[in-house]
Amino acid sequence: APRLRVAPSPTGDPHVGTAYMALFNLAYARQQGGSFVLRIEDTDRARFNETSEQQLYDTLGWLGLTWDEGPDVGGPFAPYRQSERLETYRPYVDRLVEDGHAYYCWCSSERLQAMREKQQKLKLPTGYDRMCVGKTKEERARLEGFNDTPVVRMLVPDDAPTTFEDVIRGTVSAPVPDDQVILKGDGFPTYHLAVVVDDHEMGITHVVRGEEWISSTPKHVLLYQWLGLEPPKFAHMPLLRNQNKSKISKRKNPEARLTWFEEQGYLPEAVVNFLGLLAYPPAKGESGEDVEKFTIEEFSRVFAWDKVNTVGPIFDLKKLDWLNGAWIRGLELDDLAARLLPFLQADGVLGEHPGPDELARLRSVTEQIQTRINLLTEASALVAPFYVADADLEIAEDARAGLKDTAGEVLDAALAALEPLTPPEGGPGEGLEGNQWHAAEIERVLREAIVDGLGIKPRLAFGPLRTAVSGQKVSPPLFESMEILGKDSSLTRLRTLRS
Ligand code: ATP
Ligand code: GLU
Repeated sequence: APRLRVAPSPTGDPHVGTAYMALFNLAYARQQGGSFVLRIEDTDRARFNETSEQQLYDTLGWLGLTWDEGPDVGGPFAPYRQSERLETYRPYVDRLVEDGHAYYCWCSSERLQAMREKQQKLKLPTGYDRMCVGKTKEERARLEGFNDTPVVRMLVPDDAPTTFEDVIRGTVSAPVPDDQVILKGDGFPTYHLAVVVDDHEMGITHVVRGEEWISSTPKHVLLYQWLGLEPPKFAHMPLLRNQNKSKISKRKNPEARLTWFEEQGYLPEAVVNFLGLLAYPPAKGESGEDVEKFTIEEFSRVFAWDKVNTVGPIFDLKKLDWLNGAWIRGLELDDLAARLLPFLQADGVLGEHPGPDELARLRSVTEQIQTRINLLTEASALVAPFYVADADLEIAEDARAGLKDTAGEVLDAALAALEPLTPPEGGPGEGLEGNQWHAAEIERVLREAIVDGLGIKPRLAFGPLRTAVSGQKVSPPLFESMEILGKDSSLTRLRTLRS
């Protein structure tokens, strides 16, 4: 069965590209009944970040991109953290050196720097000039720019193959590799050696990664060849791009950080759906329409490599907002309410331990706003009026400014029409027998009194009431809001705006 992996480096906030790669790896692994491995590539000690690994687990876990093997869950090829596998790489390096495919290099960083500058100035091909090739340590030590701690480099032949087969792209050509360092002075392997050794040792059958690695693949193919190992299949995904075609990057785009999506109020289902849609054509529905909303499971079922886009998809957040709205509308009410709760708590709309009445009200309000929000973060403004004391309700500037001359008249008529309605006994939902305080009846008497009675158009008729009840110009549906708030609260708020 196929084995795939995602191999992020813990160098900071996890990159959205990591989730994107994980999704495509996972989709194929699941489809084929194979395994999906999470490997932590932490050999770059200079860029290592303490909190990054946990964030990777949290964000990928949040997205539901779950792995079968990894540092946290273990597995038959543990350890899955490269820094814990240093002894694994060493024999491979020794063998490459013994076979003449790799060599020690004692050039100091100053010498390498000077070499590069000279190459650039003279417009010579760049790359290591092989000063150390064929020299013993003693021979080399007598020359300038010597550093006691050597690195190991690949001895790339001039006729090294530069093309390879890509599962998505067909035959791909890449530039001739230079004498890439494979073992660093600190005893850590570089990415290139570690990735080859680990993909082999862990039985990886398909390497699915970003297209920025295309130029490295010939080096990896050479290493497989030299070591007498069968290379895995390679698939290089198109990088995600901005509107101007530049690649999205954490330095420039906040949305390149995976943590951003949860903070912004996106649903993990929508984010995964979006990432799939970016590099893969939507399925067709019964009448030939695009089916853009799908789950990981649905995606896995239909997934085929030859349909993956090779052109860098534009990371269009408007599309994500739309998808998120679609996902929100598809959620069960209780599920949506539960997902809104932490955002409402963070915004201080609800406390840490909401009581049963507050939660019951949340369910009612959620029903009213489900079609009105695209992001979970949009809920607080709509929900807040249902949890403030009547005396504390603030009327927004723009709502007050929008009140027409007829507002007083409208409020008076509304109060007169609503006063006689009988509220349910014991609060909403109870003793409904004889209850007149429900949306349909509220609407009926208000229309009668204001639209028919005063001859004011509905648009103008209900604006002041909305403002009185919610303090805002935009609110959940008015009559339902009044029902949820209850008679006392609703009338108090109408009177307050009137005065
Ligand atoms: P940058 O600021 O350019 O994003 P970074 O150092 O934050 O750099 P990298 O460490 O280069 O990000 O990349 C982390 C992971 O995200 C890699 O696996 C890489 O393939 C992937 N990645 C980076 N940029 C993109 C992109 N634009 N689209 C898809 N994947 C990407
Ligand atoms: N550690 C590499 C990265 O962060 C992995 C690349 C690969 O999948 O081979 O992108």
